[in-house]
Amino acid sequence: MKINERVDRIPLSQTLALDARAKELAATGRDIINMTAGEPDFDSPEIVRTAAKAAIDGGRIRYTPAAGRIQLRQAVADYLSRTRGVAFSADQITVCHSGKHALSGVLLSLVSDGDEVLLLLPAWVSYVEQVRFAGGDPVGVAPRPDMGPDFEALDAAVTPRTRGLMLNSPNNPSGYVYSKEELARVAEFAREHDLWILSDEIYGRLVYDGEPYQSTVQHSEDARERTVIVDGASKTYAMTGYRIGFVAGSPALTGAVARLHSQLTGSPNAVGQEAFEAALRTDASELDVMLKAFDQRRQYMLESLVELGLRTPAPQGAFYVFPEIAGHWSGGDSSAFCDALLESEGVAAVPGSAFGVEGHVRFSYATSMDKIKEGIERLGRFLNSQK
Ligand code: PLP
Repeated sequence: MKINERVDRIPLSQTLALDARAKELAATGRDIINMTAGEPDFDSPEIVRTAAKAAIDGGRIRYTPAAGRIQLRQAVADYLSRTRGVAFSADQITVCHSGKHALSGVLLSLVSDGDEVLLLLPAWVSYVEQVRFAGGDPVGVAPRPDMGPDFEALDAAVTPRTRGLMLNSPNNPSGYVYSKEELARVAEFAREHDLWILSDEIYGRLVYDGEPYQSTVQHSEDARERTVIVDGASKTYAMTGYRIGFVAGSPALTGAVARLHSQLTGSPNAVGQEAFEAALRTDASELDVMLKAFDQRRQYMLESLVELGLRTPAPQGAFYVFPEIAGHWSGGDSSAFCDALLESEGVAAVPGSAFGVEGHVRFSYATSMDKIKEGIERLGRFLNSQK
């Protein structure tokens, strides 16, 4: 069978491949510390679990509209109005199967063949492949050393073919959170070059330090019209397996995404929708506990990595740290570093190359403090063995 060329060009996600290798080693009896996790190691709040069970027991497990149940779309609109400080209505929301599904729906709706899309690096693994699959050319824009946006690099990257830009704050993998001023500059840049902004805000509630969370929609009416927000239940509510997310933007765009999904994937998971609605309508106390634990681990990770001598941009959000390995490793690129660390010390981490930034490695702290401490000890041993 001949596989379609566009599909054939898609590689398996590097993070999944690494995870598979870590599990393979664990199956041989090796004690593996897996620091690749992109999901909270907490259970979803009780209110979420109760709502999911009630949906099943109440028989509300049928197809819903392709854009999602109106109750959930309204709950998302209320949540956004509350957290972004800008009024949203239900017709500006399309519910999707996940954040990933929301991103692909937006890119397939906005990108035409040959369009260039600027990716503010470091950028999550799937952006490049999704832009390419939609027919566009992803153009990475290197960050400053602290992983914030480099506006000179952004200016230099724009061409007559540029149509949009993608940003992710709080950022996976660096934990960087864009300041209000930086978001204003991004918004002005987009206005000047007439670009859409795809703002991936999936870690928006996981901010530990500095200013309260901001989005480009808050900058101006113009920025609000250009911005499409993608968000979901996975990270904030520890609901990765529920597979539920959304797109928020102009009704023309959200309508296009809903039409596309009505043909490609159909209505989102009915149980996930009710569970997500419950999460959005109530501020579950479990979330505070999760946030505090992440913050403690974040501080421990940052201090420990700095003590090991690794230059580490201070993460303010999400649940990752992204230290630089340059000067500590001469065995090749970040991928070779991760292979060697896994094989020799049994610590799994993700290479910076997966996010378009070489010379760095991503460690997730969405794992227990004991495992983090053990992981840091092993990393220290590994770095010493390289001296
Ligand atoms: N965006 C970013 C930056 C992510 O890290 C992830 C998940 O790792 C997603 C989007 C998608 O999350 P989900 O598909 O679980 O909603």
